[in-house]
Amino acid sequence: MANEKKIDFNDTHELLSYAYALEREAGERYSELADTMDTHNVDDVAGLFRKLADIEGKHAQKIKDMLIERGYDMPPMEYLWEMPEGPETTPMDQLHYMMAPYHALVLALHNEQRAADYFSEIAENSSNEQVRVMAQEMAEEECEHVQWVKDWIEKYPEPEEGWDDDLDPPAVQD
Ligand code: ZN
Repeated sequence: MANEKKIDFNDTHELLSYAYALEREAGERYSELADTMDTHNVDDVAGLFRKLADIEGKHAQKIKDMLIERGYDMPPMEYLWEMPEGPETTPMDQLHYMMAPYHALVLALHNEQRAADYFSEIAENSSNEQVRVMAQEMAEEECEHVQWVKDWIEKYPEPEEGWDDDLDPPAVQD
């Protein structure tokens, strides 16, 4: 899995399509993480994830509008969050019940950083000025998210071994 599609960074259509997929995925993942933090009664972290879900969701909507405005079609572009260790490890939904705030935040950080790096790379390397400007803006927003998440990790450092001993694992579903 996870062979990321080669993208022509010199084309605003491709950039916007990719960005749309990325923001939409981020919005959905943050909603899930917010729900997970709710189940652990970590309201403030749930609040952070709700805020990020809202921001990324609005951003996805804005990018969708830009695509429509330009008369671009919406190509089926895929972007998937990955675990810090890489996308081939445990599926995200199986990990949810055992996530402390720290783990959820590290997951968010990994993917925010990945997004920021990705847009930065496009901003530096595209030969199209419009794409460079757009990608630069996107990179700056993602860098801001990286910083927020980093601040929260300071508040919720890595838990001690055995922190989740008293959690009830959810029923296994097929
Ligand atoms: Zn972000």
